[in-house]
Amino acid sequence: MSQFLRPALAALDPYVPGEQPQDKSYIKLNTNENPYPPAPGVMEVITREAVSQLKLYSDPTIAPLKRAIAEQYGLMPENVFVTNGSDEALGFSFQAWADAEHPVTIPDISYGFYKVFAQLFQVSPKVIPLREDFTLPVEKFCGAGSMVVFANPNAPTGIALPLSEVEKIVASNPGHVVLVDEAYVDFGGESAVSLIGRYPNLLVVRTFSKSRSLAGARIGYAMGDPALIDDLERVRNSFHPYNINRLSMLAGVEAMKDTAYFEDCCKKIMATRQRTAEALKALGFTMTESSTNFLFAAPPALSGREYYEQLKDRGVLVRYFGGSRLSPYVRITIGSDEEMDVLLAKTREILKEAKA
Ligand code: PMP
Repeated sequence: MSQFLRPALAALDPYVPGEQPQDKSYIKLNTNENPYPPAPGVMEVITREAVSQLKLYSDPTIAPLKRAIAEQYGLMPENVFVTNGSDEALGFSFQAWADAEHPVTIPDISYGFYKVFAQLFQVSPKVIPLREDFTLPVEKFCGAGSMVVFANPNAPTGIALPLSEVEKIVASNPGHVVLVDEAYVDFGGESAVSLIGRYPNLLVVRTFSKSRSLAGARIGYAMGDPALIDDLERVRNSFHPYNINRLSMLAGVEAMKDTAYFEDCCKKIMATRQRTAEALKALGFTMTESSTNFLFAAPPALSGREYYEQLKDRGVLVRYFGGSRLSPYVRITIGSDEEMDVLLAKTREILKEAKA
């Protein structure tokens, strides 16, 4: 780093994304991408004509995509905010509602970006430990006295909180924004979107990266009371009003419209998850109950790191986080059935060698 960097930035630990190898080809089960391609309509809408229009700026109102999202969830476009990946929605939320005098309450084990944004925007986080079994101690988030941010289902644990528990947190914090990050909710969680009309402090954040197969298009969104959306628009329009590029907007509209394709992909992933979880348990793995497109699993006879490294040597990438409570575990994204068969075959090899 240079001598010019602000001290606050010099002290920050930036987010470390999962490996994205661009050279060797791996079976990639490390960043929770969808193994299936985007909806067929997406392929048709990215035409030569659409590409030629890239000479023009994109639509700063993002109106067509806001409309498509609002329609899908029975909301008004005024309830919808659209961002360059949901990371940007999270970042704008921290900027809108938290600072040195306005802290944020977060779980200790959750999406790593919450702590990074807290550091970046000089917000002091109030960090609440998950219980021993990795469930969220709901009572500690009730009446938190600050903005609250948590993922439901949580990552990397995969554990979902029932909607009634989410509602307790939202209802008990009327003076603060409660942000529920639903990046993985389409794989078996209960969404808090239905609560939006009743709670002006609730913001639900979603992404096209997982269940809509568009991680590379970078589209996220947030839904909530129009006043909250207004706050977020103030931040966006003070930073990057053209945050959604033309091709991503076209792709997003098509992906949001095709409910049948979306449901079919989610169903296939949940069935593959079930089958993979059963096979890994039969091999002696312990794991949490996943409501997501990944498994949080600990192998028998070797550490999380050893298992991760040995899988990588055999061409399969999973995510290892480390740290005292997470070190026995890896996070395994649910890929196609064929990819999971390779994972299982390599795992059997590794366990056989570990025992020999
Ligand atoms: N929230 C959670 C819980 C995540 O795991 C991720 C993906 N890393 C994101 C948000 C951000 O996803 P994206 O920026 O691709 O929408």
